[in-house]
Amino acid sequence: MTLQPGLIDSHCHLADKSFNGDREAVISRAASCGVHRIVAVGGGGPIEASEASAELAAANPSLRATAGIHPHDAGNYSDEIETRLRALLARPEVSAVGETGLDYYYDNSPRPAQREALARHLALAAEFRKPVVLHCRDAETDLREVLETERPGGLSGVVHCFTGSYEQAAHCIELGLLISFTGILTFKNAGDLRETARRLPLDRLMVETDSPYLAPQPYRGKRNEPAYVCEVAKVLAELRGVSIETVAEITSANAESLFFS
Ligand SMILES: [Zn+2]
Ligand SMILES: [Zn+2]
Repeated sequence: MTLQPGLIDSHCHLADKSFNGDREAVISRAASCGVHRIVAVGGGGPIEASEASAELAAANPSLRATAGIHPHDAGNYSDEIETRLRALLARPEVSAVGETGLDYYYDNSPRPAQREALARHLALAAEFRKPVVLHCRDAETDLREVLETERPGGLSGVVHCFTGSYEQAAHCIELGLLISFTGILTFKNAGDLRETARRLPLDRLMVETDSPYLAPQPYRGKRNEPAYVCEVAKVLAELRGVSIETVAEITSANAESLFFS
């Protein structure tokens, strides 16, 4: 299936080593089924992951990169890392800050360090006038508090891989953020999340793979890749009672203006 106007995978860890053997093939497989643009996020590992994402985006006009330190690694945030983030954020192909945020499910970094790193990323986003890619797991109340303290006027960006409640999503939208869904939307046990996706304003939504993680049905358990974002869009279209082309048009317009304009 090839879609017109095409889908954008708004969040993919394309620099991840699991793509080292076939990255070009992965990008062309996505393009051949209508996924014509991909956001190669940084933040899935050390600062080098963001630097590698920027190199990929510099070499391919259908890609954009983001630069940040994942909440899992927030304990390692330092002035030296911030200097390297600044150098990345000055580059035109690096269109957003992140992923940053709070992950209280894994707690891989101490929570105060996660909140501090998030605040520093929000300051960088304001300074460079770039949107922010937020990751939040089991930390919605604290995320809200940090956002309201650091950016009381609201902000531009996305809460990616959204898994919270309808009310939490609605509040993020009030702050100016978009909500993005992954393959979790296709999982059998995600009924509550599907109900949230059905009710939110479609014009504030995006779709993503978060690949190589979280492969949607029917690929669950395998390595995920950008081509599979179609499965997320398909479920969203069914939930909303609209065509997949409509979902593609609206979610791609959002991703386009956030990352590619
Ligand atoms: Zn994430
Ligand atoms: Zn991610």
